[in-house]
Amino acid sequence: VASKETLGFQAEVKQLLQLMIHSLYSNKEIFLRELISNASDASDKLRFEGIEHPDWYGDDPDLKIKVSFDKAARTVTISDNGIGMSRDEVISNLGTIARSGTKEFFSKLSGDQQKDAALIGQFGVGFYSAFIVADRITVETRRAGLPAADGVCWESDGSGEFTVESIDRPQRGTSITMYLREGEDDFLSTHKLKSIIRKYSDHISLPIQMNKEEWDADKKEQVIKDELESINQSSALWARSKSEITQEQYDEFYKHLSHDYENPLCHSLNRVEGRSEFTQLLYVPARAPFDLWDRNKRGGIKLYVKRVFIMDEAEQLMPMYLRFVTGVIDSTDLPLNVSREILQESRDVKIIRESSTKRVLSMLEDLANSDDEAKKEKYRTFWTQFGQVLKEGVGEDQANQDRILKLLRFASTQTDSADQTVSLAEYVSRMKEGQDKIYYVTGDTFNAAKNSPHLEIFRKKGVEVLLLSDRVDEWMLSFFTEFDGKHMTSVAKGGLDLGNLSDEKEKKEHEETEKNFKDLIDRMKAALEDKVKDVRVTFRLTDSPACLVSDENELSGNLLRMLKAAGQ
Ligand code: ADP
Ligand code: MG
Repeated sequence: VASKETLGFQAEVKQLLQLMIHSLYSNKEIFLRELISNASDASDKLRFEGIEHPDWYGDDPDLKIKVSFDKAARTVTISDNGIGMSRDEVISNLGTIARSGTKEFFSKLSGDQQKDAALIGQFGVGFYSAFIVADRITVETRRAGLPAADGVCWESDGSGEFTVESIDRPQRGTSITMYLREGEDDFLSTHKLKSIIRKYSDHISLPIQMNKEEWDADKKEQVIKDELESINQSSALWARSKSEITQEQYDEFYKHLSHDYENPLCHSLNRVEGRSEFTQLLYVPARAPFDLWDRNKRGGIKLYVKRVFIMDEAEQLMPMYLRFVTGVIDSTDLPLNVSREILQESRDVKIIRESSTKRVLSMLEDLANSDDEAKKEKYRTFWTQFGQVLKEGVGEDQANQDRILKLLRFASTQTDSADQTVSLAEYVSRMKEGQDKIYYVTGDTFNAAKNSPHLEIFRKKGVEVLLLSDRVDEWMLSFFTEFDGKHMTSVAKGGLDLGNLSDEKEKKEHEETEKNFKDLIDRMKAALEDKVKDVRVTFRLTDSPACLVSDENELSGNLLRMLKAAGQ
């Protein structure tokens, strides 16, 4: 490889840089959080890879992050002694955006700065956010385990190209120097940097150090000493006692884990002892990530074993239908060299997954059943964002089905609004005298369901019907047939029996009518022959002349359409 080469950023990076500098300017101090977050990730990686390569620590075993500044040069530098990067890693990590949601992210940009700024937050801006305050950045790095001669220097002004050059770098890890833009001198201050670090990065589990600054009585000014001090607590957040953790710290830790810029809806921290020992810190986000429907997405749980980071997206620790949950599980029992394959079979993992599932359901119940307006609102937010995913649980997690059913929310003829707000329990509490079934109608869209001719008789009689139009609804309904002893009944199925809802007089009238129409019905049956199974007189319509129904034991029209679309 030539020692120095100039390379172009991937097109998306250029676009991202432009967007970021403009839309995140009002929140520019977040660059520090991003760089510290990366330094912390790099240390986690070294701890993990170091299990097999203890020699990589050399004479520098204490992992830490250092933040410093140079007033004269107008630079801020963040250094770590974590895993570092090889030349190839530098080129791919700091020249492209590798994260999976990238394409979708760019397709969602609207050009409206405020909206895009929110999107960018959701996407997680990472390293490139340093260009908000810097017009030149150099990264010096050396990967753990490689010789000093394999150091790399990356440099860019953020406009379209970057250079990489081989350097000699005796120390392992990464040092990032930002040359501040005109007018950003605020950051050249111990006080300012300290306060940003305390605000955003206090949960980081390794020491973040700065040079001490003290009043010098002789010089009559503040002077910066060689001596270092730690400015965070530097213990894993989930290992601290609950009473010592503030809401802000929980929230910031969530943002560090998830790349989300919005606060989560709720969290739950527990230490579990007994057959299996572990700590779980779980969050429910306020917003669905881009890749919620991506089949390759494996969930948001980070696995630690005795404080050592083991893996991201440990999908075995949470069922699929709770894949939106973000958090940390720290196990005492699992071996440090645990692999995804081992996780699949582990008994400890099964215990952890069951316990975590219950925790999440409790968190959701706490929001859903609360009398507190703020919590109720949170549950509505949750349902809009993740309701469709939670519905998968009805089929996937039969053991917890009862709890999940109580968490479901539907649109219904009660409000005729597309907002899904009605619980099954609420429906039951409003049932008419003599009604013994829960009625629903399904449709491809909310409007199709709402305008179904099958609803006419129900509207006339004032009987509430649930309006189902999410893709997963039909599938979900194949897994539960009743709630609270009330049968789930489609209004579109044949032989609709309104049971005790019709009175004796009505029943007589109906029998009369059926007799009178027998001739007509027979002629229609003959005419339609094998196009239909049966022709019947119906009392379920009030405005429409006729409607198609499916047999009690048959797939519904909507499910048939879905299966056809899926090529079955
Ligand atoms: P993310 O952290 O979400 O992956 P970033 O833009 O923050 O995205 O960082 C991009 C990548 O650059 C990281 O995934 C990592 O591989 C690499 N990187 C950034 N900073 C460091 C660092 N201090 N040490 C080692 N690798 C780093
Ligand atoms: Mg990052």
